[in-house]
Amino acid sequence: MALHKIASFPSLHYSAFTTTHYHRVFSINCCTTSSSSSSSSSSPFTEKHSIERFQRDQWLYTNTATNNKPIVSSNLGSIREDDIALQLPELKKLLQVLREKRESEGKCSSEGKCVLGNVFLVGTGPGDPELLTLKAVRVIKGADLLLYDRLVSNDVLDLVAPHARLLYVGKTAGYHSRTQEEIHELLLSFAEAGATVVRLKGGDPLVFGRGGEEMDFLQQQGIQVKVIPGITAASGIAAELGIPLTHRGIANSVRFLTGHSRKGGTDPLFVAKNAADPDSTLVVYMGLSTLPSLAQKLMCHGLSPETPAAAIERGTTPQQRTVFAKLKDLSEKITSAGLVSPTLIIIGKVVELSPFWPMSTKEESCLMQA
Ligand code: SAH
Repeated sequence: MALHKIASFPSLHYSAFTTTHYHRVFSINCCTTSSSSSSSSSSPFTEKHSIERFQRDQWLYTNTATNNKPIVSSNLGSIREDDIALQLPELKKLLQVLREKRESEGKCSSEGKCVLGNVFLVGTGPGDPELLTLKAVRVIKGADLLLYDRLVSNDVLDLVAPHARLLYVGKTAGYHSRTQEEIHELLLSFAEAGATVVRLKGGDPLVFGRGGEEMDFLQQQGIQVKVIPGITAASGIAAELGIPLTHRGIANSVRFLTGHSRKGGTDPLFVAKNAADPDSTLVVYMGLSTLPSLAQKLMCHGLSPETPAAAIERGTTPQQRTVFAKLKDLSEKITSAGLVSPTLIIIGKVVELSPFWPMSTKEESCLMQA
């Protein structure tokens, strides 16, 4: 009998965390192999709507012949601006408005030196808007321009002020995706025009979020960058499932890994050898495609195939789906459940401490009966 279940729990953020709730969730889990009525194929994230997002918030990116016109300019700032004007005419207009506003507010000296804007790298947490920090909410509401990508949830975008402009910079299959360099340039141009620019990032901006690169680039250009931390997927999702990432006597450390292969292949980073520690919890980000190889390596390096594990899709949102399995079965169970990105993988003995872990004696007998 397969010891795997896929459970779809209503996210806790819409209801108080009560025993009744827990019980309800638990009974959904028990002896059920498919998701409950609370499951929905719609995504709370922008990624599933990326085409609509792209069309609404990409602000006319045209890759036409005009883009290839040589830009004659003696100054780097205006090359960047000309480029923005060609690609994003609306942004060019907005830059102008912002500059005029700054001048009318007396923020420029008689020599023409103007006050620069700020860039905030804001972590939006794993999806549940109630996991935003108060600071993040304040900054989001006060922003002039917000750049966001696919792991920022729609609920978070609802907080944006009506006057502010949103710019989608995520990937959309078949469309132009903004490169990291383009994102850097956009952030810089707006900060130079005195705007308060907010770069929204799912989870924490400095955990697998490329926040460090953006910070580095902007600081080198003299722009002040403030980072507002977010709840990283590991913490938010572990809390949702009642998994302590560390636990006295069970896990004395926790390690966040990326499953992303640097070479773009199926080989996860060369960490499996020293990651195969039974006293440590492993949390794998972006790990769906490389999991078969990672799991194999972990087991080859001595991690027990019986190690409890979980894979959580769209964690902390009402569409959350979870697969619990032993390490040896995890890849197969994920495939049969059809989990898609974003999915987080947690491997370690602590997973068994979750009240939702289905392989306790009681549950096992329940499964056996089934
Ligand atoms: N900066 C983010 C991580 C970005 S990397 C953070 O701190 O959480 C993107 C990966 O994070 C996804 O592929 C997935 O593995 C994980 N992730 C982020 N949000 C998630 C969510 N709500 N549910 C499941 N996994 C999530």
